Amino acid sequence: MHADLVAISNLWQLDHRNDELRAEHEGLSGAVRAAVAAQAAGQAVLDTALAERAALTTRARQNDRELVDYAEKRDRTRKMIDGGTAPDYAAAERQLRQVLEIVDRLETTALELMEQGEAADKALVTLRKAVEEAAAAQTAARAALGARDAAIRAELTDILARRPPIAAALPHEYQGGYAQLRQRKKAALVNTKDNSCQTCQTRIPAQRVVETALGTAVHVCPGCGGWLLP
Ligand SMILES: [Zn+2]
Repeated sequence: MHADLVAISNLWQLDHRNDELRAEHEGLSGAVRAAVAAQAAGQAVLDTALAERAALTTRARQNDRELVDYAEKRDRTRKMIDGGTAPDYAAAERQLRQVLEIVDRLETTALELMEQGEAADKALVTLRKAVEEAAAAQTAARAALGARDAAIRAELTDILARRPPIAAALPHEYQGGYAQLRQRKKAALVNTKDNSCQTCQTRIPAQRVVETALGTAVHVCPGCGGWLLP
């Protein structure tokens, strides 16, 4: 391999590894952030459902109290009518009909509220489970990051320390092109196959491929600008 290409390769290997490590770290910490957000979202939904469930309980209790009151009123009215102690029989009969209607309505409401409560309890079980799973996912994501964090940081620090002399060894004439490729997040080195760039599929003049293979010259791919590997 041409000595200049070796210099480019040395630097590229370092920078490429640097990119890989940063991407890996970003992936791991991104997974933690996503897990935290998912758990918070799940908890918010659960909190809302819990508040709605509590409101249902309150409504059911209120309804039950009214039901007890009206049931007592019904019994009292009935007793008056049956015992013949009602001061106004027709009015008492009217009142009984009204009270019976109200009791009927309250009983229907009680049943509806009970059904709603059961459905809400069922939903709560699912929501609690989702929050638990989200918490477990968060723990796992943190563990995955924790397992790699120190090693990634250590390797990045090592790369940073090793880079200056390797960067300095890159001949001046390649520095601008190399910096440009890095800026555009493109591969500095590309493989060729059958006179085509393996990265961008551009045809490479045969002369360049031959000279690259012989190590007599350093060439770039006319398509992506990456240096050709022998
Ligand atoms: Zn190319």
